Amino acid sequence: MDTLVPGSLATLAEDLARCARMVESWWSHHAGPGAVDAIAGQRLEALVHFARGKSPLIRDRYASLPATGFALADLPILAKTELMADFDAWVTDPAVRRKAVEGFVADRSHIGQRFRDRYLVWRSSGSTGSPGLFLQDPAALAVYDALAATHWADIPCDAARIMARSARAALVVATGDHYASIASWERTCRAHPGSSARTFSVLAPVRSLVETLNEYRPAFLASYPSMLELLAAERAEGRLRIDPAIVWSGGETLSSSAQADIEEAFGCPVSNEYGASECLSIAHGCRRGWLHVDADWVILEGVEADGSPTPPGRQSHTTLLTNLANRIQPLIRYDLGDRIVRSADRCACGSALPAIRVEGRADDILALRSAENVVVKVSPLAVATVIEEASNVHRFQAAQVGPSRIALRLETGNSRARRDASRALRAYLALQGLGNVRVTLDSRSPRVDLRSGKLRSVVSEYRPARRKPGRPA
Ligand SMILES: [Zn+2]
Repeated sequence: MDTLVPGSLATLAEDLARCARMVESWWSHHAGPGAVDAIAGQRLEALVHFARGKSPLIRDRYASLPATGFALADLPILAKTELMADFDAWVTDPAVRRKAVEGFVADRSHIGQRFRDRYLVWRSSGSTGSPGLFLQDPAALAVYDALAATHWADIPCDAARIMARSARAALVVATGDHYASIASWERTCRAHPGSSARTFSVLAPVRSLVETLNEYRPAFLASYPSMLELLAAERAEGRLRIDPAIVWSGGETLSSSAQADIEEAFGCPVSNEYGASECLSIAHGCRRGWLHVDADWVILEGVEADGSPTPPGRQSHTTLLTNLANRIQPLIRYDLGDRIVRSADRCACGSALPAIRVEGRADDILALRSAENVVVKVSPLAVATVIEEASNVHRFQAAQVGPSRIALRLETGNSRARRDASRALRAYLALQGLGNVRVTLDSRSPRVDLRSGKLRSVVSEYRPARRKPGRPA
């Protein structure tokens, strides 16, 4: 148990585990698909055996399965709602109880600290709109670190630029709760107190972010694609004057056009990571625009609505995730909710790992007009964070319906939550210089996207009228 090991020895043990995982991952990623599949198969068998022994929920769900000789497709699909509803029966450590975990995360000063000195805790709303509480054990954290390091080692970057900026790292994210990105970052900073790293809130006005980033001059810049797009525009227009050596993108889907814009603006490569609160490292981007699944530690299945496999080249209805690294909450054929396309061929970049693309970003960057007639762009992730944190409502829609108008649709009848969400959004917009924007509470439910069947939390429904040719502006 970690609790019985002195802190420095525990850190040393984790450093050694991380190094071992790095060597292992490097080898399996370069040894070919056969080696990756073989190691994933062994890990799956070991995980299922462990989960059946330690998780009452999994034991119950797998009651009719043979002890060995099962195929992945024989295992039932698990949904977030059922796992969260039966949290205490799902976890494999009887010392972990949902009530105690909730008490731990209720205190924001615990962000990046470990529950029971052992588990990092992440909270998410996820694309399904139902909140999740995910614990990561030390072995899983060592794997995520190793996968990130293996990927970073493959990125060509300007070492002189890193040294000139004293390897300063800047993370622009949502900082107000136990989200995976900020909790992981805080954990890394605590483990390496000498490192130069600084966190910037994604809720800060873009103009003040630009000022503070200009002062800080980071060598590494990490954020969500929508925020990086906003910062790239600031860089292209000359207000932001930083020259990072690497930009890291995660938390949302990065389109190839956005990646090209960000790389051109900053003059450096973008490292694209696909992860989730359920598994921090699922896949990493390559120079050919594909994401390569870390298939030695993650099994990703694109499936149809009836659970049958989606053929390569076609977009799946949803995706099943199996996290082979984390044992405290076994995620085996877990419905992640994302839609993926798997390439039928091996990627031209040479990687032996399966290549996928994830359905494009669901939310829109809003372009709102201020009282001074200036268009101010607003990050959809910031808008969603403000609404969620103020109201604790996870199914909502903030729709731009005019140049300076937002309709707020919340799936709750709680008038206090509705008022809090509206008030917090107005306060956030005022900070962006958009105090003139009218926020109205729409009595209708959020509109689900007819094409994808998904709820888009932040959308622009406003289409400015085009001027007719030949008429003066
Ligand atoms: Zn590739």
